[in-house]
Amino acid sequence: MRLATFTIDQAARLGIVRVNRVLDLDAASLRILGRSGPASMQDFIEGGPALRSDAETILRACENDPGHGDLFHDLSTVKLQAPIPVPRKNVFCVGRNYKLHIDEGARARGVPPSYPSVPEFFTKGSNTVIGHEAEIRLDSTVTQKLDYEVELAFVIGVECRDVSASDAGHVIFGYTVLNDVTARDLQMAHGQWFKGKSLDTYCPIGPVIVTADEFGPPSGRALSLRVNGDLRQSSSTDDMLFDCAAIVESLSAGMTLMPGDIVTTGTPSGVGLGMSPQVWLQDGDVVEAEVEGIGILRNTVRKVR
Ligand code: MG
Repeated sequence: MRLATFTIDQAARLGIVRVNRVLDLDAASLRILGRSGPASMQDFIEGGPALRSDAETILRACENDPGHGDLFHDLSTVKLQAPIPVPRKNVFCVGRNYKLHIDEGARARGVPPSYPSVPEFFTKGSNTVIGHEAEIRLDSTVTQKLDYEVELAFVIGVECRDVSASDAGHVIFGYTVLNDVTARDLQMAHGQWFKGKSLDTYCPIGPVIVTADEFGPPSGRALSLRVNGDLRQSSSTDDMLFDCAAIVESLSAGMTLMPGDIVTTGTPSGVGLGMSPQVWLQDGDVVEAEVEGIGILRNTVRKVR
């Protein structure tokens, strides 16, 4: 399933995306099953296989009967939110997970590249999360070096700890696209990366979550990023130093993960930091992050002062 959080008349709804339409799962549940559906993506994830089975039943019933066409909304008429608009925790991130990105970062700093032997984790504040088509704030009094990073992210589906790589597939609910927007000057200045990665709007996520069963193995997926149509990043998830399974094993060792936790897996080369000369995001820039099998996450940069 392709799942989205969308709003109609300001109210957030959970939906199943089918091509260019989205099925209102709560309204459809009321009509087909006679009871309310999950109120949010978080509730749906926590509901586990029973709610997923209900959703499949509802979807089949609605698609097979044209009389239920009113439960679908044209995607162009709704506003998509981030799939999980306000995560309960910070977003877990992996830094320096693609060799060519490590190389470009080292070049930019004038130091020889070094490659991590374990995933390098950091987090982005939950205040950062925005959805597809929302604006990325450019506050020039805070940063002069705004940058982008396309990443494959995954969402944890069950409470878990000490998960082996071979079992990682059982704890991943689904996959989405994430843009790890970064203020490079703050990232460098503050020693740790948290501040430069955690300004408001610095974590576009979406447009949808594709459930793990529909997405399939996360290997070999093309990921790319364009600024105003200009291709800046283009790689494959096969280029990760630590794949999703290795990340789950390392992150969950001795540390409980919860349903709805978001984990993003690092960015390939081609960021503004690594260009010569360096190029930073500007007011009006349209940034499109794409992962094969999920879709395009589009956001516009807006200078606020
Ligand atoms: Mg990143």
